[in-house]
Amino acid sequence: MDLKTVILLLAVGSFLFGLLLLVFKFNKKDPQEVPFWIVAKLLQAAGSMMLYYRTDTFDILTIIANIALLSGCAYEAWAIRVLTGHPVKRRLHVTTAVGIILVCSFTVFLDMPYRTGVVFLLQSLFYFLPGYYLFVKSGKRFSLQLILAVCYCVTGSIFLTGAVSCLFFPKTAVNMAEKPISGMIPGASFCLFLVSGFIMLMLAKERSDIKVQEIQKTLKKSESRFQQIVETAIEGILIFDNRYRITFANKNMASMLGYTVEEMIGRSYVSFFPESHLDVYYQQESLRKKGADSVYECCLLRKDGNRHWFLISAKAILDDFGGFDGSFAMLTDINERKEMERLLEESNRLLTELSNMDSLTEIANRRRFDAVLEHEYSRLRHSNSKLSIILFDIDHFKEYNDYYGHVMGDVVLRRIGEVLAQSIRSADLAARYGGEEFACILPDTDINNAVSIAERIRQRIQDLKIEHKKSPVSDYVTASFGVATVQYSPETTLDEIVNIADRLLYKAKTAGRNRTEYAWEKKDRYPVSS
Ligand code: GH3
Ligand code: MG
Ligand code: MG
Repeated sequence: MDLKTVILLLAVGSFLFGLLLLVFKFNKKDPQEVPFWIVAKLLQAAGSMMLYYRTDTFDILTIIANIALLSGCAYEAWAIRVLTGHPVKRRLHVTTAVGIILVCSFTVFLDMPYRTGVVFLLQSLFYFLPGYYLFVKSGKRFSLQLILAVCYCVTGSIFLTGAVSCLFFPKTAVNMAEKPISGMIPGASFCLFLVSGFIMLMLAKERSDIKVQEIQKTLKKSESRFQQIVETAIEGILIFDNRYRITFANKNMASMLGYTVEEMIGRSYVSFFPESHLDVYYQQESLRKKGADSVYECCLLRKDGNRHWFLISAKAILDDFGGFDGSFAMLTDINERKEMERLLEESNRLLTELSNMDSLTEIANRRRFDAVLEHEYSRLRHSNSKLSIILFDIDHFKEYNDYYGHVMGDVVLRRIGEVLAQSIRSADLAARYGGEEFACILPDTDINNAVSIAERIRQRIQDLKIEHKKSPVSDYVTASFGVATVQYSPETTLDEIVNIADRLLYKAKTAGRNRTEYAWEKKDRYPVSS
């Protein structure tokens, strides 16, 4: 094989290799595996091709060919450096490329064979360099690296020999140029091309295998760490698929709901929701399907059918295209807190009830009467309606107490309270106004209806037939009533309304007791009848 054919083979081989690497680069997700390799091979291909077409005289094409070949060798050295795990700074490879251009351009001013000597010297340097990188990094596992290092050093030595003979023994070099030994240089380059190509591929594969192993190791480590966190978490953890079926549940979650982990897997999330909370499920499902996360409180059904409250922090899982692919939920047990809240609410309600209730008669007390009166009267402001008030007082109750005793007096008060509560409508309010005085608030009630209610109460008290020997009015306990009906007027205060009823009650007392006095219309003109 003559020299030109070897150079052509080198050009074609390097080009094809470069092309192969280029395809490989674009097929891979991580294209920067060996970043300088393609540049190296394409530059070497271009350089060899130009050398193939150059003329015998030293022309401009030879300079460009030398630049391309030397840069190709330099980039191959950088590719090896990356492969052995070292970074190559942009400044280093750019400066080297500029240096090569300058030195090659400078060779125009040199005579033969000094020009060739300088080029060979540089080339030997760029072959020794990868050899050095490989030697430094080589270990038992990287025997291929050693072979490649030796190849680079041998080629570097051949080029160095050529350079030394050109620079220091120019005459011998000129003579040698005619001899077959000069064919050693392209021959060595070609051998190196074949060996290095194969070994570099093997090294790249080995390197990527090691990387995969490292990634797998890290993945396993983080997986077991995740598993540990999940298992020791006091929270319950659930993972759902895109149809909201459970694909993962930690032990804690399962035990909080009274299941085993195996029983939980595959169940639909909706089956844990009580019917009264289904709206929460559907609302959350639609949020997740839109990719939205949320934190909400909800109760889930345990295996034994009891409800258990959780604070749920849920996150949507999206696929590569942003579509809903399931969700992840962290559940904190708030059952005790919810139970406490319920008890607190209940006791608050009871407390309010008690603070508004008269303990003896178990009907509303004066405080509640005042509040309801204020509320009902302010309601009148926006309507044309009427509000009636009944105030009544037991007749000669002091005498009753004196004769029958306070305990019996209390019994009478309690029985009258019962009669009162039974005699009013659900919208009305019956209250113990104080001592042996009682009151009713009758919303939306005119005077006629209010009087008939008062009369009914009076009659029922009488019908109780509670003996009262000391009453000059009757043989039984009786009461006197004052009934007032009002419409809203900005000049009438609440106290005045009660005063009107009180005055009417007093009138009933003075008129002989056990009767009802009433009045209606506006404040100044209160026609009173008996
Ligand atoms: P009148 O017909 O004018 O109303 O005569 P009265 O004796 O009922 O009037 P007075 O206001 O003088 O007496 C009210 C009595 O009611 C005095 C008190 O002993 C009694 N009394 C007030 N509160 C209670 C109570 O909680 N329990 C009992 N047993 N008696 C009470
Ligand atoms: Mg009284
Ligand atoms: Mg009285």
